[in-house]
Amino acid sequence: MKLHGIKVQHKKNTADLAPARLSDVSEVCIPMSMHIGKPAKIIVKRGDSVKLGQVIGERDGFLSVPVHASVSGTVSKVEDITMSTGQRVPAVFIKSDGLNEVYEGIAPPEVNDYRSFVEAIEQSGVVGLGGAGFPTFVKINVKDLDKIEEVVINAAECEPYITSDTRTMIDKPDYVFKAIEAGKKYMGVKRFIIGIEDNKKEAIKIMKKYAEKTDGVEVKVLPSIYPQGGEKVLVYNTTGKVIPKGGLPLDVGVIVVNVTTLAFCAEYMETGMPLIEKCVTVDGSAVNEPANVIAPIGAPIENLFEACGGLKREPAKILYGGPMMGIAVPSTDTPVLKMTNAVIAMDEKEAAPPKTTPCINCGNCLRHCPFKLDPKGIMHAYNIDDAEALEALHVDLCMECGCCSYVCPAKRPLVQTNKLAKIKLREYLNSKKEEGTK
Ligand code: SF4
Ligand code: SF4
Repeated sequence: MKLHGIKVQHKKNTADLAPARLSDVSEVCIPMSMHIGKPAKIIVKRGDSVKLGQVIGERDGFLSVPVHASVSGTVSKVEDITMSTGQRVPAVFIKSDGLNEVYEGIAPPEVNDYRSFVEAIEQSGVVGLGGAGFPTFVKINVKDLDKIEEVVINAAECEPYITSDTRTMIDKPDYVFKAIEAGKKYMGVKRFIIGIEDNKKEAIKIMKKYAEKTDGVEVKVLPSIYPQGGEKVLVYNTTGKVIPKGGLPLDVGVIVVNVTTLAFCAEYMETGMPLIEKCVTVDGSAVNEPANVIAPIGAPIENLFEACGGLKREPAKILYGGPMMGIAVPSTDTPVLKMTNAVIAMDEKEAAPPKTTPCINCGNCLRHCPFKLDPKGIMHAYNIDDAEALEALHVDLCMECGCCSYVCPAKRPLVQTNKLAKIKLREYLNSKKEEGTK
């Protein structure tokens, strides 16, 4: 089986730039939903004093994580905000006192077995930092540990521009490997594979040097073909295993974890400081001096641009994430989230939508889809409102990687249509289920 992909321009302009810390953030806006699952429950109110690392939102339900103060200061307001996805979520605004006082309760967690390890990861507030936002403690909370044959460490970072994971491997290799040792000790995992694209020479050198001194770790250098970091693609290309339709990596004995998430887990176990800041790649044609910036969670992205010499001109589009899968943000007030790994500001030329022409039946979209889906057929089924056909075409498997749109010579909005088609299919399946229960 061959999983397809495409060659994209790498534009890894910031790979050699060590991140600079953002120091002068006057106010942060911290949403309670920066993860997949139920929003955290706010436990502070306007006027409260808070310190760095203090819990301001408690985990609410199984699929949820706590949220912590990323600056010390005073809670200035508590209100709902609109996220870039259009979702309304509660958020805590904190006016910084500029002191960055650490909360008294911050201390390394006591970890001595698997249960306390999972609990510590839960308390840290960490989620998939590569952009997925899935609570990490849920991912490692496995009923039968013997089922885990290997952990695949996602260090592919296949999206153009983004280099924050690359910086983790260059700047924090100790933490990557300390987390691997913790995985061996508390979860009994014997095999770790670091999947990394071949365009990250320095990071590969460092990971290989550490792996040579560590039992059970293999560095797998993969071709730089997008979407190499897609979970199913990466699992296949590193282990040869095929995740079944609708299944999870665990169904084939694999846990996939992003390299920055992994390093953070070890850092938390050493310091006890929960997830309150993020290394973000700031790049794009509208940015004066692209860089990696370490920002408090909740800092407005405007502050990130200021730290990069400002914007050359009014951006036509700003994205959370890379140009292939990124989500457009409405304004520069938008906060840095836990899973924000990049903020890309594009000028008019870079952001200009291509001129769309009729489909010429070239088959490019089908040939380049990693899952051999039929984007052209999906678009047709969506346009004629045929949900049954969408089900038969397995649109639910689409990972929204954007390869089909990228290779389409007619510049059809294929990935955009797939997103809408997935919603249509979900509604259809839900109504079918409801009918069945009547
Ligand atoms: S966006 Fe979906 S349909 Fe298009 S190439 Fe990616 S997985 Fe295939
Ligand atoms: S790549 Fe574009 S033009 Fe070619 S078949 Fe697909 S939708 Fe049509």
